[in-house]
Amino acid sequence: MDFLNTQPALPGGGRGDLIDRPEALGRWARATGEIGPHDPFEPDQAEMQETLRFRAVLREGAESLLAGRAPPKTTVSAINEKLARSPVVSTLVEKGAGWELASRFAVGTATVLLGKVAADFAHTLVSGRPDRLRRCEHPGCVMLFIDTSKNGKRRWCSMETCGNREKAASHRARARRSGTPA
Ligand SMILES: [Zn+2]
Repeated sequence: MDFLNTQPALPGGGRGDLIDRPEALGRWARATGEIGPHDPFEPDQAEMQETLRFRAVLREGAESLLAGRAPPKTTVSAINEKLARSPVVSTLVEKGAGWELASRFAVGTATVLLGKVAADFAHTLVSGRPDRLRRCEHPGCVMLFIDTSKNGKRRWCSMETCGNREKAASHRARARRSGTPA
């Protein structure tokens, strides 16, 4: 979802874009941990364009899920194309007193970054809970999130930001109605 949330609403209206330049894409990918600190990752203009195209296709898929529909075939084939180009490597690693078979993507390139994003989106479908995809209910917010709460009633992208903004707003509205100062 972080990937789809790279176009935040701006205070003055409209949408910003956190990955609209190759350097910005590089910074974003490292900040999210999708690209490790030691992985080579210097996306060029073409990789950035490919990234933005993929984001647009995934967003169409997300919009379909939000509307209770299956994602369009174009989204599914774009996901499969990215997965096919991002080989996963299995590595045997020691874990405590035992062993673990860890899976990781081969190298840190834009192709692999998009492969990871594609896999995350695919997991949302595979988990059987695509209905848990939500758009934040705050009017000024456009963030998407996966509702992992037990009762499935989460409404805000974040309680700290939008949840509190909403609480403050309804408090002011109540105060206005009862005629007492907020
Ligand atoms: Zn929000």
